[in-house]
Amino acid sequence: MKVYDVVIVGGGPAGLSAGLYAGRARLNALLIEKDKDGGQIVITSEIENYPGCLPEESGSTLVERMSKQVEKFGIERTSDCIESVDFSGDIKVLKGKGKEYHTKTVIIATGAYPKPIGCPGEKELIGKGVSYCATCDGNFFEDFEIFVVGGGDTAVEEALYLTKFGRKVTIIHRRDELRAAKSIQEKAFKNPKVDFMWDSVVKEIKGDGMVQSMSVENVKTGEVTEIVADEEDGTFGIFGFIGYLPQSKCFEGSLDMEYGYIRTNENMETNVPGVFAAGDIRIKSLRQVVTACADGAIAAVMAEKYIENEGGN
Ligand code: NAP
Repeated sequence: MKVYDVVIVGGGPAGLSAGLYAGRARLNALLIEKDKDGGQIVITSEIENYPGCLPEESGSTLVERMSKQVEKFGIERTSDCIESVDFSGDIKVLKGKGKEYHTKTVIIATGAYPKPIGCPGEKELIGKGVSYCATCDGNFFEDFEIFVVGGGDTAVEEALYLTKFGRKVTIIHRRDELRAAKSIQEKAFKNPKVDFMWDSVVKEIKGDGMVQSMSVENVKTGEVTEIVADEEDGTFGIFGFIGYLPQSKCFEGSLDMEYGYIRTNENMETNVPGVFAAGDIRIKSLRQVVTACADGAIAAVMAEKYIENEGGN
């Protein structure tokens, strides 16, 4: 039975950074990714907040270079989807589709994905007007109109943040009252740049290369409003904040979590010795490429230390 030093689950920036550090430390490492490398950032058309990124860097070009850099250090790679785990022994077991992996340490870097608004046109226009990250994409809408979908804490807080960029920010919410905390609501009601479309859902997003219009339905009256980009602007922003889906189902019951996010300390250690988590899957305050990479590096170094010092067989 092959026992790895470390198995990294997830090939986004956190997993790739962990792979880079594990490779440099000459650990016997395996990186498992279920799909393509990159996670969420491959759907980001322009990245300008990762230190040292090239001008007009896209998520996919950045990930391509990250993947190549990892390859250089020779860690093993495989494509599989982990379905269950057994972290009870010194040797941890991860069960994929028809294959088991045995390892002294695990780094979980499976990420969290924004829930899609779920209407026609949305997927095609991601990165072309549709976004799920105000910190990443807000400044592309400097002085444009912006629409935010959702009524929870995230939607309202991000709408307030987006008022720094957009000339007007309209919150589209499916009910007539917000779910967000009262203190956050108060700020939004006071902000002259924030407007609301109550009892409303986005039915379709349209555009040729960029978002140009969308249909919004009033769920009480059935009336459909067509929102068309101002002629001079040609486009507007639509930010979806209707919740996130942390990719942690297979770790439920094995690790300490909150709302599906894994709890770690600053060394990325979970409550199970030898199991680390890195990137967006952690409970943390800023989910960005730069913080995911930092987490991945720390997790790999701590995994190496665990193997050396703390008796990883
Ligand atoms: P959330 O609280 O689950 O809110 C999701 C919002 O999206 C709700 O208003 C919901 O509407 C709406 N929604 C859900 N599905 C929808 C759909 N298919 N179409 C249209 N609207 C839809 O998610 P969140 O705001 O991301 O927050 C997640 C957790 O993190 C919460 O516990 C929140 O308190 C916490 N959080 C805290 C802070 C803070 O304390 N500063 C900041 C951010 C997040 P309904 O209201 O009608 O269900």
